[in-house]
Amino acid sequence: MAQYTPPLRDLQFVLHELLGVVDELRMLPKHHEIDADTVNAILEEAGKFAAEVVFPLNISGDREGCRLDKDSHEVSTPQGFKEAYARFVEGGWPALSADPAFGGQGLPIVLNQCLYEMLNSANQAWTMYPGLSHGAYECLHAHGTDEQKHTYLPKLTSGEWTGTMCLTEPHCGTDLGMLRTKADPQPDGSYQITGQKIFISAGEHDLAANIVHLVLARLPDAPQGSKGISLFVVPKFKVNADGSLGERNPVYCTGLEEKMGIHANATCQINLDGAVGTLVGEPNKGLAAMFVMMNAARLGVGNQSLGLMEVAYQSAVAYAKERIQMRALSGPKAPDQPADPIIVHPDVRKMLLTARAWAESGRALAVYTALLIDKELSSDDEDERRECADLVALLTPIIKAFLTDNGWIATSHCMQVFGGHGYIQQAGMEQLVRDARINMIYEGTNTVQSLDLLGRKVLGDNGAKLKKFGKLVAGFIEDEGTNEAMQEFVNPLADLGDKVTKLTTELGMKAFGNADEVGAAAVDYLRICGHLVTAYFWARMAKVALARQDSGDAFYTAKLHTARFYFAKLLPETAGLIRSCRAGLAPLMAMDEALF
Ligand SMILES: Cc1cc2nc3c(=O)[nH]c(=O)nc-3n(C[C@H](O)[C@H](O)[C@H](O)COP(=O)(O)OP(=O)(O)OC[C@H]3O[C@@H](n4cnc5c(N)ncnc54)[C@H](O)[C@@H]3O)c2cc1C
Repeated sequence: MAQYTPPLRDLQFVLHELLGVVDELRMLPKHHEIDADTVNAILEEAGKFAAEVVFPLNISGDREGCRLDKDSHEVSTPQGFKEAYARFVEGGWPALSADPAFGGQGLPIVLNQCLYEMLNSANQAWTMYPGLSHGAYECLHAHGTDEQKHTYLPKLTSGEWTGTMCLTEPHCGTDLGMLRTKADPQPDGSYQITGQKIFISAGEHDLAANIVHLVLARLPDAPQGSKGISLFVVPKFKVNADGSLGERNPVYCTGLEEKMGIHANATCQINLDGAVGTLVGEPNKGLAAMFVMMNAARLGVGNQSLGLMEVAYQSAVAYAKERIQMRALSGPKAPDQPADPIIVHPDVRKMLLTARAWAESGRALAVYTALLIDKELSSDDEDERRECADLVALLTPIIKAFLTDNGWIATSHCMQVFGGHGYIQQAGMEQLVRDARINMIYEGTNTVQSLDLLGRKVLGDNGAKLKKFGKLVAGFIEDEGTNEAMQEFVNPLADLGDKVTKLTTELGMKAFGNADEVGAAAVDYLRICGHLVTAYFWARMAKVALARQDSGDAFYTAKLHTARFYFAKLLPETAGLIRSCRAGLAPLMAMDEALF
């Protein structure tokens, strides 16, 4: 059966021993009073909430799914979801890292990251309801008028209302420039929005009193394409001047999608029938404003897969220690039993270690990036803010695509550890695989992430952002250059760093000749960069573990073994990826379309 214990020890390792977050945060004026005890106490409570309140609803929520009442357009979530959400709000969790000016607790983003990792492990479908609100909050915080902020942010902060992002339409997903939803200006300065949106997560539900939709639409005189898109905030219930709820806005759920996973999250068809909204940001600059929400959501999606990898790993390890089948090839390891536990078999270990290595390095990367966001938002040094923003921009598509690709691999491996018992519903493992699959698709498919990385973030600025990350890697390699014990980690990291630099230059040259070369290389390239980032964090984690391996704490021994596994068994994938990248466009485009 799927099981979950919050990984507090590993979170504390990443926060305190690897990244020294308390010292880093205390340099920021906003967080100068934070201390390790507070951080640990919040983690512990967050873990309890995830494991005790949300996790027990995961399997039942999947089986029950959501229901739409076609007459009232209301959606019911599975049993227990509403009560769990009420406890989430009561506990003040939605406000954890929100701005105190709007009722938030003002705690670091890093803590929110850890909270959401654990919630995602416990129940991805449930977690999407509050999760989407964070993006809506950030978007309005960055681009809303004072009135919009005053109207919506306190309620999103408290969790009394939730948010959505309404981008997709039947004929346009990736290519938002084609969207047709219309916004007609009204004499009072508001807009009437008319159109159809599809696939809207948490678009309708019974958890909160109001739903704040952020909707992309076109003004009457808007230019064609993505330069003619504006952003609007459209509440389910209009909001009166005193903040109370007014009449129902005609923004209705007309259908729920039947889908592969995340059954307990309502994926809604939404009809806007002259719904009243107000403009967020400038006319025709909606996509730029929406990117605040999309970037937050992309990191959030990477975090969903991180959570799933952890719960899948824990469940598979418990099973592999218990399930007995066959003898080890080298002779019995549990002679008192009729067969050995399957954890003795090398390939079972490979599957477990793969999931563990991806989860632990994913956690290091996700927490590191959250810390960068804290600095980007709160540092009083402008250069540091810019530096952090550039690194976050570079790492966002990697977190979204690399972690979700790994999430698919890891959950599938962990299901495989259960054999046929993983494939049937009872163990709860096939659900994790089904839930993990959407993470590679929504928030911009992983292909789109790779085009963003190679096309915009790397080649688009002549490698400047990549060089910034390269500087961190080079600095670490230089520092550890004379440390004999670190050579097994530092040498492959340095080698991959050199190869990425060379490959990037080659791809840049090819792209000059034919822009399609970017499309041919991008997916492989993102995976290679994902490995570079992962190798960097595994080398850093190995350094900490090496320094403490004589402490007698088996945690560090396990960390070192996992680091060695990563470098020996997972990193070599890059050799094939580099070859595939270099093979370029021709093998993909040579075949005439008619021959497909
Ligand atoms: C369960 C679920 C929840 C969702 N939640 C939301 C939500 O809350 N809000 C919202 O607005 N949307 C949501 N979506 C929509 C989601 O973001 C889109 O499905 C996704 O962005 C892809 O768009 P599409 O499905 O139209 O695929 P398409 O854009 O039609 O793409 C089809 C394929 O073509 C590929 N492709 C497209 N363009 C290129 C290119 N230039 N180069 C290479 N390959 C390309 C894609 O990678 C993909 O493999 C959700 C979808 C699902 C299934």
